[in-house]
Amino acid sequence: MTDVIVVGAGLAGLCCAKYLKKAGVSCRLIEASDDVGGRVRTDLVDGFKLDRGFQVFLTAYPEARKILDYERLHLRTFYPGALIRQGGMFHRLADPFRRVIDGLATAFSPLGSFLDKLKVAELRVKLEFTSLEQIFRAPESTTAQFLAKQGFSEDFINSFFRPFFGGVFLDRNLNTSSRQFEFVYKMMASGDIALPATGMQQIPLQLAEGLDITFNRPVKAVTRDTVTLTDGQQIKCKAVVLAVDAAQAAALTNGEVAVPKWRSVVCIYFAMPTPPTPEPILVLNGEKDGLVNNLAVLSAVSSEYAPADSSLVSVTVLDARGLGDAELQRAVLDEMRKWYGAVVDTWRHLRTYRITQALPAQEPPWSFEQPARLDSGIYVCGDYRENASINGAMASGRRAAELLLKSL
Ligand SMILES: Cc1cc2nc3c(=O)[nH]c(=O)nc-3n(C[C@H](O)[C@H](O)[C@H](O)COP(=O)(O)OP(=O)(O)OC[C@H]3O[C@@H](n4cnc5c(N)ncnc54)[C@H](O)[C@@H]3O)c2cc1C
Repeated sequence: MTDVIVVGAGLAGLCCAKYLKKAGVSCRLIEASDDVGGRVRTDLVDGFKLDRGFQVFLTAYPEARKILDYERLHLRTFYPGALIRQGGMFHRLADPFRRVIDGLATAFSPLGSFLDKLKVAELRVKLEFTSLEQIFRAPESTTAQFLAKQGFSEDFINSFFRPFFGGVFLDRNLNTSSRQFEFVYKMMASGDIALPATGMQQIPLQLAEGLDITFNRPVKAVTRDTVTLTDGQQIKCKAVVLAVDAAQAAALTNGEVAVPKWRSVVCIYFAMPTPPTPEPILVLNGEKDGLVNNLAVLSAVSSEYAPADSSLVSVTVLDARGLGDAELQRAVLDEMRKWYGAVVDTWRHLRTYRITQALPAQEPPWSFEQPARLDSGIYVCGDYRENASINGAMASGRRAAELLLKSL
């Protein structure tokens, strides 16, 4: 009999299984879909690598440092800063600690006030000397309230923080907990924003090495020592770890896990002969209107995301305003024509991903370390137990494994 069954082969489940295996516990993963990764998957379409929703890996994530071999991910990094579209022009905002010259130019750009830029640097230094434990115990508010309290101008919040962190939290209103904001800000300040050279799914694929995983087997019920598959098969074990997303966890635990509120996103990929910018930089919409929140030339970050003679752009839309795929695609291209001109006529649509359950909304009060074991005796992990990020999912998996090892 297998000691532990882990249900779900996303990052949380994979990490949990990895730690259990390391400790000598026999463990089997059961996954509903056809591959590992959960929300971190990469599709191959016409020679392009399309992540299922634009996402990035922050190299400073402490949990990732513990368990991943970075060398083998062949990480490619973004420029430390962003290009912001405001007033019909692009403005560069550079990290002055890593791009000194660009940082100086940033200080005098018309984007925000000089004081705003000073505050960006001040917050960076403060968070560098603040531990993650302190961040997650700090007084909590929404990110919007936190930024206003820090003294950032409304103009700078709207033109920089809303598109940048709105794109991270999938929440342009910035209702997300200030603790999550401080966590992400610290991670960005302490490391690079990166992509594995051949797609984000390389992260779960590396974690999956050597693990026993059964695919295409959805689970319909669990107890503390039994897993029941949708075909009726029952598997007995010493312990069950439920490593599914929050909505599935709520359904499979008869309400022991609360039904989550979700953040959603639409990600549209385009191919083109010439990229709109040759730089590996995030482009943000700092205007008051528009459908596009952010854009990136992924092939400029890693050439392996596109075939040799092509470029790949991802466009992120946070509010599709009820538009269908064809209308949305047309409206996005019209908007991009205003940014980049007639060259947009050469863009070819590759695929649109609508992800309705992308991230659990983390509005205050948000508990950043929810118990890894339910009253029913079922172990649980997943980003919703910690924070909605690759790091949060990994941390929750490790915590569930550690608790389980104590009881075994
Ligand atoms: C579009 C998008 C952008 C993101 N951007 C970033 C980013 O830039 N940086 C960052 O750090 N994080 C980002 N995230 C968040 C990050 O990807 C997630 O927090 C993390 O991957 C969640 O992992 P998980 O293991 O908790 O859950 P999941 O990935 O959801 O894994 C759950 C697994 O359980 C399986 N499952 C579900 N139900 C069953 C069942 N009944 N039986 C068997 N198996 C089942 C699922 O198929 C899945 O494989 C983003 C997420 C999305 C969607």
